[in-house]
This record gives sequence, structure tokens and C-alpha cells, in this order.
Amino acid sequence: MSSTDQCILLVFSNPGNRTNLDRSFSVHFTLVQSECRVALLTHWISLDPLANLGVQVPASLAGFYCEQISIQPQIILLKEGTENSQGKPQLISNINACQAVVDAVRTTLGPRGMDKLLVNNGKATISNDGATIMRLLDIVHPAAKTLVDIAKSQDAEVGDGTTSVVLFAGEFLKQVKPFIEEGVHPRIIIKAFRKATQLSIEMINSLAVKIEKSNTVEHRALLEKCAATALSSKLVSHQKGFFSKMVVDAVLLLDDLLPLNMIGIKKVNGGALEDSILVDGVSFKKTFSYAGFEMQPKKYNNPKIALLNIELELKAERDNAEVRVKSVSEYQKIVDAEWNILYEKLDLIHKSGVQVVLSKLPIGDVATQYFADRDMFCAGRVPEEDLKRTMKACGGSVMSTAHDLTDSVLGRCEYFEEKQIGGERFNIFTGCPNAKTCTFILRGGAEQFLEETERSLHDAIMIVRRTIKNDSVVAGGGAIEMELSRALRDYSRSIAGKEQLLIGAIAKALEVIPRQLCDNAGFDATNILNKLRQKHAQGFSWYGVDINKEDISDNFEACVWEPAVVKINALTAASEATCLILSVDETIKNPKSGDGQPPMGRGMGRPM
Ligand code: ADP
Ligand code: MG
Repeated sequence: MSSTDQCILLVFSNPGNRTNLDRSFSVHFTLVQSECRVALLTHWISLDPLANLGVQVPASLAGFYCEQISIQPQIILLKEGTENSQGKPQLISNINACQAVVDAVRTTLGPRGMDKLLVNNGKATISNDGATIMRLLDIVHPAAKTLVDIAKSQDAEVGDGTTSVVLFAGEFLKQVKPFIEEGVHPRIIIKAFRKATQLSIEMINSLAVKIEKSNTVEHRALLEKCAATALSSKLVSHQKGFFSKMVVDAVLLLDDLLPLNMIGIKKVNGGALEDSILVDGVSFKKTFSYAGFEMQPKKYNNPKIALLNIELELKAERDNAEVRVKSVSEYQKIVDAEWNILYEKLDLIHKSGVQVVLSKLPIGDVATQYFADRDMFCAGRVPEEDLKRTMKACGGSVMSTAHDLTDSVLGRCEYFEEKQIGGERFNIFTGCPNAKTCTFILRGGAEQFLEETERSLHDAIMIVRRTIKNDSVVAGGGAIEMELSRALRDYSRSIAGKEQLLIGAIAKALEVIPRQLCDNAGFDATNILNKLRQKHAQGFSWYGVDINKEDISDNFEACVWEPAVVKINALTAASEATCLILSVDETIKNPKSGDGQPPMGRGMGRPM
């Protein structure tokens, strides 16, 4: 009988005795170690049968009174088909899965990074943004999903550094993989990570350069540099000067809280990227309009604006109502009544003295002509988001009745205009008194290109907001990572034991950013990293990769600046994800409940 293919039921006769219980557990563990599948311990056992099975029993257990040993079938704890893997192989396989994900985004890092073309349900997306790529990859591996989450959280929290965070996590895992294979306990590794992250954050905080806010010109220049660094790795990097100015203008137009939703981004196909404009107010695409619209004026100074949620249209009720009439005159009455209701509403709106009428619901041809006759402008079916933004910017409130249109519920702005931009017409409200808001109107060729431009601007906007809020910056291009790596390596030399090697490995992992920047640009990474290590050892903290000259340079002077918070957040998130993945030693996957479809039976009485 081999000891591996059977199940032993061990039965306690005296489970209340604490010491015996403990001992019996050690029997249990010994058995598990010898790969004999033990199901349950409930009875005293004889040691001899165990010895016969080839199980090593510790000497301390000798002398046990044994009563019975019986061979029983395995106790089934989990549903049949449940996948269960555990231990070191499990950990290694998780790490490998993460590595595969990291390899997918690796090449997009930095100014010379490549873009990815992702096709999802026939819709093509071209992107360089780590979070977007990770989201579209649709990863199913449970551990690798963690990386998607950190990319998303980085995107939500700081908006940039999404590729970096994934790379950090991947490289951390790669560097500790040999330790796991050697059998170092994950907890020790996790402890080293906690320590290294804490040290790195202290280091970043002490190195970061505070920005002087009092000098507005200088402050502005600095914000532009941060925006330019964020944009330099994107598809629009050639226009980064143009866009970084625009982004800073946009963010500075907002109020102190810098609400992101007060920046609208509209895209119009056609034209060149440089034809994009920034409107300091609300703007949205002209909505569908009826005959008579051409007669309405398209420009107003200081108009009053009504924001409505009313349908100003004669209803075509034939689809959803039935009215039975006996004579033509009765029918005429019904029609008249409907016209009267509409005219009453229109009169009320006109009397309130507004010039611009916006409604979430349709404004039909009768109403359009009515307004045209009275020199008023109207737009129906305005998207809710745009109507809300207009409300926040111009004041007033969205009304669902035409009564009580007093000045307090009407919006105001300094100038309203409907303007032709490319092939589209836009309604533009400027000089809004209430909230500060602005709208980008992006121009450009292909749809995908415009979408990627929007995502890139989002990164830059987030970075400028962050810089205004947290006002301290570090040098990018791998400079800060090299400095952290040096600091950690120095620290590791001052401590003893396994931790020394682990912190050393983490220090090495941080070099992934400059290495990848070089690799993506086609530089000799080993050579440049050697130069960088040397410079940093000599105390030049801001030396990083110079993308233009295939060399190293002082990136603080070269104005490759990033907000410190980007790096702090990236490091924290990556190290947390690493610890999370390392602390998992077992995955239990439930079998899918059924195969999704109930068996197709024959319908009652229906022949086959
Ligand atoms: P992420 O999604 O992490 O922001 P990016 O593709 O935007 O990834 O690349 C950001 C990296 O590129 C940062 O490490 C940044 O320091 C670096 N970088 C940006 N501009 C430059 C530049 N002009 N020279 C060198 N490195 C740069
Ligand atoms: Mg970036």
C-alpha cells in the first residue's frame, strides 16, 4: 500500500485533552508533509500502522494509545470541478501572469514609447495611456487584474504615471521571484517592501522642489513645463507647446477647487490640431433644429437664458393615444386645445424676457418659428451634461414649467454666439458670471486620433491640477528613480540579513524606468544606466535620460518636471499591489455554475 493514495481517518477518543490535541495536530502535519492525504483527526491512532504506511512519526508521539485506523474515502469539501492550486508554484504562476501583462504595456513608456492599437468589438482605439490599454485588455487572470486596478487608481488619483505604476509592480515582482523560488517567506519580502516604500517616500519628499506661487509668471511657466512633460510621451508630443499653454489656461480659468467636470472637451473632425481652440465658457454642438431656425438671431450681448425641461412641440399622439370623436368640430376643438397649450407656454417664455431658450426636450417647428418671429434663439434636445454645465456657469436653474420664469431662475452670460467651427456649428456662451468653466474644441483628422488627443489632454489637465494643489516637483526621465535606487542601495549596505538582499533587489527594480526609457528610444540601456549610476553616486541627484541626445543630462535644468505626487502615488500603489500578490498562496476557483444555458427541451406538444 503506498502512503500517497489513501485517506486515513484518525479518530480521537479524548479530544478534550489539550496537550493530546496539540500533539495530534502535529501528527496531522507530519502526515500532510509526507503527502499522505489526511482527512480528519478524531481518534487516537496506533503508530505502527502509520509506520507501515511509510509515514515518519516523530519520537515525541511514541507511546500513544491507539485504537483504530481505518481507511475511508476522502472528505469532499469543495464542489467537484473546483480548481485549487497553492503554495510556491501558485505564487510563481501569479508572478508570471503579471509579467505577461507588464510586457504588454512596457513599450509605451516615455517620449519615444510606441502606441497600441486595440480592437474591441470592432471599435479601434489607438492609445499610449497605460490605464486605457489595461482597461481594454480585458484581463481575466485574477492576480494580474490587480495591475489593472492600480493603473486605474493611478489614473483616478493623479491622472498620469499609469504606465509607470504597472512597470514598477511588474519589476518588483520580477526582482523578488528568485527569492520566492529559493524559499524566502513572502512575509519577509513584504516587510522589506514596506520599509523600502517608506524610505522612498521620505526621500522624494525631501528631494522635491517647492514651487514659488507668489510670482504668477514663474508659476505659470512651471505649470506649462509639467504639462509639457506629461504630453511629451503622447501622440500630440509635437504640439506640446501649443497644448500645454492651452491646458494651463484652461485650469487657471477654473475656481479654487479646480473641478474637472467644468472643463468640457468637444471634438470636431477635420482641420489641423493647431486649429483647436479653448473657449472660456460653455460651448456645445448645435442641436437638431427645425425650419425657421435660420431666421433666429445668432448673437446676443448679455442675454437672459432659460434652461428648460419642457417639450415645446405639438404631440403626434396617433401612436400612443386614441380619441374617438363624432364630428369634425369636436376634432377641431381637440386640435385647438393642443395649440392653445403650446402657445400659452410660448407666451409665458416670451414674457419672461429671455433671449436664449435651451431645453433638454425637443423644441418643434411651431415653437422655433414663434421664437424666430420674436428675435429669440432656441435649442432643443440639449444633452443633459451640457445643460447642467450651462446652468452651473450661467446661473439659474432647469425648470420643468413655463410659469414662474423670474430673473432668479434665468441664467446670464456676457455674450452668446452660434459659430461655425469646421463642419459643425457650436453654441458658445462666454463671460459666464457664476462658475468658471471652459471648453476645448479639438480639431484633427481621424476619430481615433482625436480620442487619443482627448485622453492626452486629460493627463495634462490632471497634472496641472495636481501641481497647483501639491506644488512640489521632481525631475523625470528616470532621474528620481535613479536617485531612489541609489539611496536604497546605500541603505541596504547598512543593514544585515535577508533584508539587505531584498532592499538591494528593490533598488535594482527602480531602475526599470530609465532602462525602459532607453530601450524604447533604441539607446544602449546598459551604457546609459552605468553613466547614470556614476553621476548619482557623485551626488548629482537630477541626472536622467536625455531623450534627444542619447545621453544623460540634468533633467531638472532640462525642465523635464513631474509632480512629486505622481511618483509617490505610483510607488505606493505598485508596492501595495506587489505585497498583495505575494501574500496570496492559494487560489480556489469555483467551477462555473452550469454552462450558462439551460438544456433546450422540446416545447410542449411541439413536434421535433
Ligand atoms: P505614464 O503613463 O507612466 O505617464 P508615459 O508614457 O507618459 O507613461 O511616460 C512617462 C515617463 O516618461 C516618465 O518617467 C517621464 O519622466 C518620462 N519623460 C517624459 N518626458 C520626458 C523627456 N522629455 N525626457 C525624458 N524623459 C521623459
Ligand atoms: Mg504620462
